[in-house]
Amino acid sequence: MSSYPVYGRIDGPLVIIGFGSIGRGTLPLIERHFEYDARALVVIDPDPARHTFLAQRGIRHLQVALTPDNFREVLGSVLEPGRGFCVNLSVDTSSRDLMRFCREIGVPYIDTVTEPWPGFYFDDERPNAMRTNHALRESIRADARARPGGSTAVSCCGANPGMVSWLVKEALLVLARDLGRPVAAPGTRSDWAALMQSLGVKGVHVAERDTQVSHRDRRLGTFVNTWSVEGFLAEGFQPAELGWGTHERRLPAGAHHQETGCRAAIWLDRPGADTRVRSWCPTPGPQFGFLITHNEAISIADYFTLGDPAAPAFRPTCHYAYHPCDDAVLSLHETLGAGHLPLAQHILDENEITSGIDELGVLLYGHARNALWYGSRLSISEARDLAPFQNATGLQVTSAVLAGMVWALENPGAGIVEADEMDHARCLAVQRPYLGAIEAHYTDWTPLANRPGPFGAVPDPDDPWQFANVIAP
Ligand code: NAD
Repeated sequence: MSSYPVYGRIDGPLVIIGFGSIGRGTLPLIERHFEYDARALVVIDPDPARHTFLAQRGIRHLQVALTPDNFREVLGSVLEPGRGFCVNLSVDTSSRDLMRFCREIGVPYIDTVTEPWPGFYFDDERPNAMRTNHALRESIRADARARPGGSTAVSCCGANPGMVSWLVKEALLVLARDLGRPVAAPGTRSDWAALMQSLGVKGVHVAERDTQVSHRDRRLGTFVNTWSVEGFLAEGFQPAELGWGTHERRLPAGAHHQETGCRAAIWLDRPGADTRVRSWCPTPGPQFGFLITHNEAISIADYFTLGDPAAPAFRPTCHYAYHPCDDAVLSLHETLGAGHLPLAQHILDENEITSGIDELGVLLYGHARNALWYGSRLSISEARDLAPFQNATGLQVTSAVLAGMVWALENPGAGIVEADEMDHARCLAVQRPYLGAIEAHYTDWTPLANRPGPFGAVPDPDDPWQFANVIAP
């Protein structure tokens, strides 16, 4: 008898699209936590390198790339209306189109990012405003508005975007308790936003430090990362982007508001991979992170908005502050310097990583206790013990996919949802066994601290948490 909880039964075809680092790590969690007919499991991935692993396990492999021309035919040949589940963990496919098709035929769907068809990310003809995550997210929100309710499709449910939205809510409850104002979890979006405002939170960094290292030296010209190199390069070369809060006094250089949609975000005339922000994580303390655009930077700012979105009464600033593993920092540096995409790429797997952790949390700042980091600190050795086929970064993602699938099965007619709109307590309860220590750390660090040398005036000395102090010029 398995000692793992079984969360439900999936009747009908279980289709996984994309079997890279995240697909491979999600499989054992699906095997553990759902009942299904193993013969109904199909993996769609064009990469022949996936075949041996799948064949050894008797899993059907459709070795084909989904394209705008074939996706209906290919998915239609393996999915059955009203049954099964479609788990999209691929790059180079349109999340919107795959999600639309699944909803048309009533099949539950989940992805971890809003991905476009190839050509979007590196299209120099496309205006920068249209290469943002604001634009990608609006295309999903438009579908949600056009066809409310209906078959559940969970959008952007990995670690971040995904889990971090649940952590923000949990962190607010921790902060309320520690400020001597304990509250029960609010039941509506506006009540959550009112709670955040009343606690004095001005903004949120999604603050991550990945210290995983390999026993192998990185080779010149090879881009190394702990998850998809393609995915990281794509988002790194989108414009830097962040949710723009109501406490901010002035826009940074090269910033633009969006003219349509939720308008919760601004974007900058520079790639996120070349934009550094000051942030804080428990292991390093103060650190630089990259201002990589992410769906959660917009969805969290949007979710916690009070009042008219065009002139809000309250909105937090929210952005990613990502320090990837050391090899990835060097890889980015080399790629930006060379001015062309890397010659080779490599994702570090659980067998070659010798040590390190991924600490991924939310830094809620600006309140009476200054700043609270709340998140998961998961080591590679813990990840190896908890589940096969993934490193620490991967397990934070795949366990969020598991939680999202459980929530979707338990909420079948919920329509298109993001992590912010799901029951955070239920999702974290499913995910928690895979997250290592979940810790709360208060810090008195601000972006005004530890600035090196007498090199010019601090942009905004009166208000440490202005974004002008956070971004490095
Ligand atoms: P990966 O690069 O390791 O694997 C992607 C897979 O997609 C590859 O096996 C590739 O062959 C396949 N693929 C490429 N084109 C395809 C097509 N047209 N049709 C079907 N399959 C195709 O990536 P990964 O690390 O496994 O990440 C998968 C996805 O998850 C990416 O979109 C990534 O951005 C996302 N992700 C999200 C989070 C999060 O926290 N939200 C974290 C990590 C990764």
